[in-house]
Amino acid sequence: MKLLLIGEYREKKLLDVTYDLVGFANKFNGEKIMLAIGYESDLPKFDGKLYLADAKEVGEYNPNVHKKIILDVIEKEKPDIVVFIHSSFGWDLAPRVATSLNAAQFTEVVGYKDNNFVVPSCNSKLRRDLSAKSDITIVTIQAGAFTPLEEPTGTPIVENIKANSSSSLEFLGYEEAEAKGLDLTKAEIIVTAGRGIGKKDNVSIIQDLATKLGGQLGASRPVADNQWLDQSHQVGTTGQTVSPKLYIACGVSGAIQHLAGMKKSEFIVAINTDKDAPITEVADILVVADVLQFVPALTNKL
Ligand SMILES: Cc1cc2nc3c(=O)[nH]c(=O)nc-3n(C[C@H](O)[C@H](O)[C@H](O)COP(=O)(O)OP(=O)(O)OC[C@H]3O[C@@H](n4cnc5c(N)ncnc54)[C@H](O)[C@@H]3O)c2cc1C
Repeated sequence: MKLLLIGEYREKKLLDVTYDLVGFANKFNGEKIMLAIGYESDLPKFDGKLYLADAKEVGEYNPNVHKKIILDVIEKEKPDIVVFIHSSFGWDLAPRVATSLNAAQFTEVVGYKDNNFVVPSCNSKLRRDLSAKSDITIVTIQAGAFTPLEEPTGTPIVENIKANSSSSLEFLGYEEAEAKGLDLTKAEIIVTAGRGIGKKDNVSIIQDLATKLGGQLGASRPVADNQWLDQSHQVGTTGQTVSPKLYIACGVSGAIQHLAGMKKSEFIVAINTDKDAPITEVADILVVADVLQFVPALTNKL
């Protein structure tokens, strides 16, 4: 089994999610090769061959040129699986590569089990196990689903490559989204309200605990979607990625998209009526209780 991992750079920096590709590849026995359109000044820590195209020459993103670079390396290396991050870069490039090769593509993979790619469906309520019939499979993986726990190490063997195609498109740069609302990334304590709090009126119960602890208030996505709290409180893949000293999840089930945003917290307390909720995978302490009873009692005690 040979895997080709497509690393990702933004504004001259290697993105940490590149190591999620390695975490995914570690599920397979076999050779791992990386390809990046990036910069010699910030190489990934990776033991293996790295094909590097200079982003100063070809730009950080140009779908036509990048696709051709990737296809050239695929032709040379003949990998079994080509792996992208499920980012705006990956979800644009992966289908271009897959259609060029007439290959199967699996999108936003969150697991690999019994030789099948696991893909969420129905708003993550269900999971599908998929396998490919084509010789080569293209996948995008969900950020956070395969993040290695250990620090990355290694020095790649770099092979510089040139782009041998041009494009009618020009990459102009990134425009930062306007910063608004709350910055949870620097909070040392976060108390998060999940759908288990039942209704908007109960947010104050969670807010009282956060205030008592001198922490910030977080929200799972349904809480933000239902406008019980502003979206700027949302933690997870489509919210903020946080790593406080203490994270208290109140009525949060622990869906993978939520875990991706908070699993690096130093100490995690989960309060949930369901002792088997997936949040138990990352929680240091699970309190099996009704949040509406337990949280006010805890706040009073404090
Ligand atoms: C592309 C995509 C991106 C997403 N991005 C995010 C994201 O950034 N952040 C995010 O959070 N989600 C995200 N989601 C949604 C995610 O899949 C889950 O649906 C969501 O995290 C569930 O939120 P929840 O845990 O609050 O609700 P639920 O999954 O409904 O869980 C509620 C929990 O509360 C418990 N509970 C119920 N009543 C009580 C009570 N009285 N006391 C104690 N516990 C109780 C239940 O046992 C359950 O475990 C995303 C989904 C998709 C498809």
